[in-house]
Amino acid sequence: MFNLILFGPPGSGKGTQSEKLTTKYGLKHLSTGDLLRSEIAQHTALGLEAKKIMDKGHLVPDEVVIGMICTALETYPDTKGFLFDGFPRTDKQAEALDKLLELKKTTISVMVALTVSEEELVKRLAKRGETSGRSDDTNEGVIRARIAEYNSKTAAVADYYKSFDKVVMVKGEGSVEEIFNALCKEIDSRII
Ligand code: ADP
Repeated sequence: MFNLILFGPPGSGKGTQSEKLTTKYGLKHLSTGDLLRSEIAQHTALGLEAKKIMDKGHLVPDEVVIGMICTALETYPDTKGFLFDGFPRTDKQAEALDKLLELKKTTISVMVALTVSEEELVKRLAKRGETSGRSDDTNEGVIRARIAEYNSKTAAVADYYKSFDKVVMVKGEGSVEEIFNALCKEIDSRII
């Protein structure tokens, strides 16, 4: 299996690039943000609780997202690999993911981290808010809270994978195609 983490702050382009990468490499896209929004759309108890947290720009509890990923991994036993988008976002999530993958006798092959300046992130998210219908994109305070959560809890997850020499950084500014090509170059050099 080839398992990839697409990493980066909110607004760094993970969703856009994930779609292109999963098509090209035949991976199953697992986005915790999408899974949570699907729970919200179905009005489940989990979705109801998660929405309150997401609308403040905070992180949903680790147990909740780890449970969702655990189920998703079981749902697609025959995939060539997974592309994780928006997960793991804390050290605890990273450790849980390692254990889950170990049980499946596989591991993370590479983490590709998109880098984008904070001002560019705020601009992109506010622009997305005009059309996405996502309530967490329409308020600058919530956007800034999500970036603050990223800086205080999520950025360090890259250090965890750096200690296993699994991280590559890719500039997330430029055209969608330029960034996609840069990502593919890094991924191709890691596919055995
Ligand atoms: P973005 O990265 O643009 O903020 P996402 O769709 O990845 O968008 O996430 C939206 C929200 O969902 C986050 O702000 C957070 O509240 C929640 N969320 C998504 N993934 C996780 C996760 N792995 N751990 C905790 N909360 C999460």
